[in-house]
Amino acid sequence: ELSVREPSPASLHELDQSVPAVQVCVRLRPLLPWERSEGYGPSAMEINQGDGKDGSISLKEDGRSRHFRFNAVISPECTQQEAWDLSRIEAVVNKVAMGFHATVFAYGQTGTGKTHTMEGYSYEHHNGSAAPSVSAARPRVKAKSTPPEQLGVVPRAVMALFDRVEAIRARDSLGAQACVVRVSFLQIYNEKIFDLLNPSLSVSQREAGGRGEDFSGLRMRWDALKRHFFVENLFQNECNSAEEALQYYQAGIANKHVASTAMNVASSRSHTLMVLTLLKREGTAGPDGSTEPSREVVSQLSLVDLAGSERTLATVNTSSKSSTRFQETVNVNQSLFVLRRVITALSKRDKGTETSGQVGHVPYRESKLTSLLQNSLGGSSYLIMFACLAASDKHDDENLSTLQYASQAASIKNQPQVNVDPKDRLIQQLEARLGAAHQYLIRT
Ligand code: ADP
Ligand code: MG
Repeated sequence: ELSVREPSPASLHELDQSVPAVQVCVRLRPLLPWERSEGYGPSAMEINQGDGKDGSISLKEDGRSRHFRFNAVISPECTQQEAWDLSRIEAVVNKVAMGFHATVFAYGQTGTGKTHTMEGYSYEHHNGSAAPSVSAARPRVKAKSTPPEQLGVVPRAVMALFDRVEAIRARDSLGAQACVVRVSFLQIYNEKIFDLLNPSLSVSQREAGGRGEDFSGLRMRWDALKRHFFVENLFQNECNSAEEALQYYQAGIANKHVASTAMNVASSRSHTLMVLTLLKREGTAGPDGSTEPSREVVSQLSLVDLAGSERTLATVNTSSKSSTRFQETVNVNQSLFVLRRVITALSKRDKGTETSGQVGHVPYRESKLTSLLQNSLGGSSYLIMFACLAASDKHDDENLSTLQYASQAASIKNQPQVNVDPKDRLIQQLEARLGAAHQYLIRT
């Protein structure tokens, strides 16, 4: 017997209109003690945190006042919990549990609080001097006991996701089989992809980096069926609990610090991308009353800490173009530079300001980062951007640039969709046609 199994993705989305598909949250960090003692003053920005549904920022530029509106403006006094609440990530994590993709990324100049926002205090202050032993089977690094109020977005999102996973498992007749979570964690440095969870690769990466040699990094491939890029041979560790996922996270962060030290580069020049992949199997009753897995929904939560967005031209040493330093400056800019072009192209497309009704080219494939985030930008994912600013007068120029990109990003229109396995989607379409034929036969 054929029946409608569940509401269509569109109507699922309508169930909760309170989550915008794209949200841009501006977060300001306070003046740091050393900045005060160096005589930095407070920024001339005027912020209005709003009512929790939106907020605004005004900034003076050449005597002219510029005004920006965002989904949230998180003031310097806000705690991590308040930042979490104002950005409504929990609702977005619920969407991931329902089968939607979502991406959260932090953008801003180095030192503006991206890592503070994503990782939080204790992870950010992790002592990465000792090489961690990350085993493929079980992480051996113990998660540190962290004051919960200091946790950033990533650990909070991991815990919220596992809450949903446990609820699904408890309710579903497939039990633990109903939901599987895998975690991967990579770093993009110099347009090369490094696996932060693969111990053997990290060692050779570190050694090659330390010797100043080229390490080609992991390869990206196009999945024609699912129509997205994926990273070949990236470790995908299955996790049964939030604690386990966070141990991998912490091990990956430690690896990131070790790799930066070995390669003698600041970690602010690389992008990190942690992806939680949720595989949901939906059961149908078999002929003998048992439950059989039927269709699969795969959804991903991507959590991105971007490289510093400051202009790095000052570090270009044109007299030695072959030096690592020169290549680094150019390539680090590549992923961020293309990200900005993608944001600009999409904001023009979605504002309808594109001339002659023609959809402009969106250069996703011109960098590793934007290839991997293609679906998140102007696609079928939920998207949250944290635009990080420092509330100091020395940062006003970079702040303005960040606010401009943030405001372009805010006009991007994503169309979230549940990710049914393409094969299952095909079967569903066939079933729907059969159903229509069946109805027709009954009526005639
Ligand atoms: P980024 O990752 O953007 O380079 P960090 O997250 O490392 O910046 O932050 C730079 C410094 O500012 C760190 O010492 C961090 O602890 C501090 N900081 C950032 N945001 C806040 C905040 N909201 N409240 C207090 N300190 C913060
Ligand atoms: Mg950082």
